[in-house]
Amino acid sequence: MTFERYKRQIEVFGILGQEKLMKAKVLVVGAGGLGSPVIAYLAAAGVGRIGIVDGDYVEESNLQRQVIHAGNLKENKAESAAKFVEKLNPHVVVDIYPYSINPKNAIDLIKPYDVVVGCPDNFKTRYIVNDACMLLGKPFVHAAVYGWEGELSVFTGKPCYRCYLPKAPTEIGRAIVGSTAGVFGSIQSAEVIKLITGSGEVMRGRIMRGDLASMDFFSFEISGNPECPVCSGRLRGIFEENYSGRCEIRRYE
Ligand SMILES: [Zn+2]
Repeated sequence: MTFERYKRQIEVFGILGQEKLMKAKVLVVGAGGLGSPVIAYLAAAGVGRIGIVDGDYVEESNLQRQVIHAGNLKENKAESAAKFVEKLNPHVVVDIYPYSINPKNAIDLIKPYDVVVGCPDNFKTRYIVNDACMLLGKPFVHAAVYGWEGELSVFTGKPCYRCYLPKAPTEIGRAIVGSTAGVFGSIQSAEVIKLITGSGEVMRGRIMRGDLASMDFFSFEISGNPECPVCSGRLRGIFEENYSGRCEIRRYE
């Protein structure tokens, strides 16, 4: 092990924590504004295997916040992110998935990993990731950002994302300050490291909200919905019908 590289964090969570990180497999869904800090900090921390799912290509308007894609205009974001990881920490194995997650491939994509980090820019993907994670019993580290604001939680069973938000509200647009994505993506990476090493307290059953314009940060508990179609076990698969419109569950099996 390259002890020298990790010695400052080993002072925090110990050599056993570091070994757990180096054996861990984390899937990052979306290599954009949130995915950039998530991928950077997980790779820097020495997570053993990182899967990166993204079907988009780097555009000039992305670079204001998607800081891992410097110099890679027009390249696929999963491939571009893998190049960044290789430079930062060649000990990390990267699995590149240069396409979008969808109801057909979600289970196969998520199954090999220990933790899933949701970094998409749309509700449909959040619901696919939540539902597949709950079916497979995988922790789902969620964040969403808009303008100066963001929210974050970790779902490890009841309550799940659908308990909190049973159906999608209307999309509010794409306005975003790069720093906002940086803050919330960095916190997502910390939650992953806490989940894997056992250090600290994971943000389970709570939503954290923050507004960088007013610097108000707060968190509140969310309760499990006994009727939740997903974490109550009624949903038996990931079906296309459940991810159109407002993404309500219509088909259970
Ligand atoms: Zn639920």
